[in-house]
Amino acid sequence: MSYSMNTYSRIPVAFTHGKGVWVWDQSGKKYLDALAGIAVNTLGHAHPKLTRAIAEQSSRLIHSSNLYQITEQEKLAEKLAKISGTDAVFFCNSGCEANEAAIKLARLHGHAKGVDSPAIVVMDKAFHGRTLATLSATGNRKVQAGFEPLVPGFVRVPLNDIEAVRWAAREDKSVVAVLIEPIQGEGGINLTTMQYLRELRELCDRQGWLLMVDEVQCGLGRTGKWFVYQHAGIEPDVVLLAKGLASGVPIGACLARGAAASVFKPGTHGSTFGGNPLACAAALATLEAIEEEALMKNAERVGNVLLAGLREGLRSVAGVTEIRGHGLMIGVELDRPCGDLVKHAMAAGLLINVTMDNVVRLLPPLVMTEKEARQVLAILLPLLRDFLAQAPAAVAARA
Ligand code: PLP
Repeated sequence: MSYSMNTYSRIPVAFTHGKGVWVWDQSGKKYLDALAGIAVNTLGHAHPKLTRAIAEQSSRLIHSSNLYQITEQEKLAEKLAKISGTDAVFFCNSGCEANEAAIKLARLHGHAKGVDSPAIVVMDKAFHGRTLATLSATGNRKVQAGFEPLVPGFVRVPLNDIEAVRWAAREDKSVVAVLIEPIQGEGGINLTTMQYLRELRELCDRQGWLLMVDEVQCGLGRTGKWFVYQHAGIEPDVVLLAKGLASGVPIGACLARGAAASVFKPGTHGSTFGGNPLACAAALATLEAIEEEALMKNAERVGNVLLAGLREGLRSVAGVTEIRGHGLMIGVELDRPCGDLVKHAMAAGLLINVTMDNVVRLLPPLVMTEKEARQVLAILLPLLRDFLAQAPAAVAARA
């Protein structure tokens, strides 16, 4: 009997400890972690710099309050502003709160422009969180079902379709912002084109809209640069972070640039825990380690090993619809539901995930080496081939 509320279909395995890309369960079984707690454990497990920073900070001061100055928060805000090209940071504790802050910021921006009922353009298959506003912004009916009435003020368009956004600009004068994941994670590792991001930037400039990028899953070095939008050479107005920012210590951040940076005023938004000394010390250690250990370059190199290995190993294998990704954010889409692969992989000592029922997702820690990536391939490729060799109908019937 479990007293935890029944919100997850949990796999009956509990982990006790980890080291680098490896974790061990209660029975002593060892697993290669190609998921990193869904893009959270940036530095893998038990990274000495991170554990030291957390121990040192917790021995001095874990929490004070945003009623007072917080030195570690100031340092982290400055570092984030510098690496992202933004001017000010609001800290919270999770990805949905970062998105929630952006939605509120966009509405204030809209009201300041005289728009009574401001709306935000959002994408099909997007995922922005599970609070009422962020699930309303999310493009997945499963996440929304049962929670109606949804929060109004979102205009949904297909991803990578600039004409649809231009149409919204012509038809809907209430639009004040665009919210987009530069790589959709939960939606199945769907890449936005760099051209599309640049066109969105131009359109937002013309319309006086805010361009808000949700890099909660794809950001922070995973694709070889700090942020995916930097590959497109654009500067968003708002950048949302969480997940990997403190390598597992809960933190979220809403970064803003230019006029967007001064939309919030004292009293308009806040968070009890947001940006507390412990979380900020962990985030600072994470960002420093990414730089000191050249983990962005590593993510690019090791991501290419994984992508090339998957493409080579699955070439002409029937049932593979598409292999896509950027750096250490990779999806293998199959023509059938494949949730069972998670269990098969665990039995073989590998942690992966399946999203949208039929996309195998890899989000390894940024510390994964090429050798470890080849170990991932050595386990995953035969599993995928065996799985796909079964009749699709039989797999679908069991799913
Ligand atoms: N935004 C994106 C892109 C995400 O992938 C997620 C979580 O998966 C969220 C927001 C919500 O983050 P959290 O679960 O920390 O609220």
